[in-house]
Amino acid sequence: MKKEKTVKKRDTWKNFSRSVVYLTKESPGIFPMAVLVAILSAVYPYIGIFLSAEILTELADPGRSLRHLFFLALLLVGLNFIGRLLLSSCAQVLDVMKYAVLKHIELAVAEKSWTMDYAISAAPEINETKGRITRWHYYRGVLALVEQLGTLLETLVTIGISLALVVEFFRAKAVGEGQMAALLNHRMISLLFLAVFALSVAYNIHAFSKIQNRYFQADEKAGTPMNQMLMMSDVSILQYQHGKDIRMFRAGGFLSRSMQSLSGSYAGILDDAFCYERKMSLFSTLLSRSFHLLVYLFVGLKAMYGAFGVGSILKYTGMVTQFGDAATRLFHIIREFRQNFEYIKVYFDYLDMPNLTAAGKLPVTSQIREDYEFEFKNVTFSYPGASLPSLCGISCRFRKGEKIAVVGRNGSGKTTFIKLLCRLCDPQEGEILLNGTDIRKFQYEEYLEFFSTVFQDYSIFAFELGENVASESDYDEKKAVQSLEDAGFGDRLKTLEQGLHTQINKNFSEDGVELSGGESQKVAIARCLYKDAPFVVLDEPTAALDPVAEADIYQRMNQFASGKGAIYISHRLSSCRFCDRILVFEEGRLAEQGTHEDLLAAEGLYRKLWDAQAKYYA
Ligand code: ADP
Repeated sequence: MKKEKTVKKRDTWKNFSRSVVYLTKESPGIFPMAVLVAILSAVYPYIGIFLSAEILTELADPGRSLRHLFFLALLLVGLNFIGRLLLSSCAQVLDVMKYAVLKHIELAVAEKSWTMDYAISAAPEINETKGRITRWHYYRGVLALVEQLGTLLETLVTIGISLALVVEFFRAKAVGEGQMAALLNHRMISLLFLAVFALSVAYNIHAFSKIQNRYFQADEKAGTPMNQMLMMSDVSILQYQHGKDIRMFRAGGFLSRSMQSLSGSYAGILDDAFCYERKMSLFSTLLSRSFHLLVYLFVGLKAMYGAFGVGSILKYTGMVTQFGDAATRLFHIIREFRQNFEYIKVYFDYLDMPNLTAAGKLPVTSQIREDYEFEFKNVTFSYPGASLPSLCGISCRFRKGEKIAVVGRNGSGKTTFIKLLCRLCDPQEGEILLNGTDIRKFQYEEYLEFFSTVFQDYSIFAFELGENVASESDYDEKKAVQSLEDAGFGDRLKTLEQGLHTQINKNFSEDGVELSGGESQKVAIARCLYKDAPFVVLDEPTAALDPVAEADIYQRMNQFASGKGAIYISHRLSSCRFCDRILVFEEGRLAEQGTHEDLLAAEGLYRKLWDAQAKYYA
């Protein structure tokens, strides 16, 4: 237990120093600026308190000088103006710095999400973590440290100034011989005053920490409905393309009810915390106001009995308020500071998640790229949380120059098979070999470079057309145009005024172009051609194309893939008959393999699928 605590403490300090180093590296001026803002914020209220006290004292003095009064008033206004201007300018500069760091943090979360193991990136708890981190903004995690350290410093400075005034206040003695003066100067009265003050502050701290705890719990509970709500609004509001189905299937009502129910449970959680805060604050406000009454009485009496001038009433009552607030805030911020380490840990744990797929070290040499053979050896794979494997005991080989077709019914494991080949997932059993070496031993990025792919659910981004083809902003335009032409997009390209620089989708630009399903697929194929990798993987690359375009693309792809290895997944068996070999999948198993003629002759599953389709062709 003790050891566990020591490890936790060590990790906390490690994360703290890591956060400070990170923040300083991203924005070297952020801490100096936070210190400046903290000192200015602490000192600023005292300008008013001190100078107003001076003015009152001067006013109460029978020999007051108008010139001096005028000077004090001018000083008050001038210092207030300069102080406010300085404070708000520095606070704004600090905000800009924090905003820049916030964008770095969001970028780091995004970068991690596209470099982490692909299989893990789809897990719901990872999505939840990503959503939570990006919702923290300035208030939680690494960036919140700036605010918290600033507030800590501000409260310490305030307490320091107030303490000096407290000492001054108790040193000032009531004058006169009467009983009242003696009572006011009595040590017990001062101790009683301090005890009531400590009680009021202690209760405030207690109430605050309970409220803070309740908000912390509410925040934890509200995470899931909040995430779901954001995802739904992303789908229904930001991605206007979903509007088609929402309209056609009248899904608006359902969506709105779901969002209302989520926002209801979110509001319920928050409302619970608000109610609790109201209840707790009622007594603490009552207590502190009663204490303020006592303060005015005590300070006023001391002034009446000549301990100090009437102007100092303002100074000392102000001091008590400032001190009380600062003491409460100090405990509040220490607590928040400690709680925030939980958030910082979540952030760094997320960034530090080991990338198991990227552990390989072997280079994919040019020799391998020149001549290669893949072998699946008894490969079994299940998706996380699935009760049944999606692929079971798969064994097959294919080499450079071979064109392989993969066919089978929906859900038979075809896409999973190519995900394993491309190392988007790793098998739990068996191994996949490249020239006899387990593919997990190769350097991950280099291994990915081996494949040009068009996935079934390919993504076309809201970038320029050429950027989509090259996945870069700085690219070979001639090659991009050639790739688009080879993918059958040449005629459409000629109609685009801005050519390669045409913005895709209308998300960011009025001039954006909406592509049809078939056109998008051609762009995805062009991207595959542009990459020009040694091995080509096409998962239903022509599903959205018309028959003429499909025949054309297959011919072009055959030319492009000549001499390379290639795997085509297609439901149109007529497109697969020209492949060197056909793999037939059924319920996660490799049911048959051979040439078109062999498989027809075998009268098995392939024959059944073929006959079913041939009916329509006939
Ligand atoms: P096919 O490409 O032949 O249609 P898939 O390889 O996509 O089939 O899917 C094979 C099986 O794996 C199906 O039962 C499918 O439901 C399941 N599956 C696919 N992707 C996932 C995933 N990300 N998580 C869990 N199960 C999945």
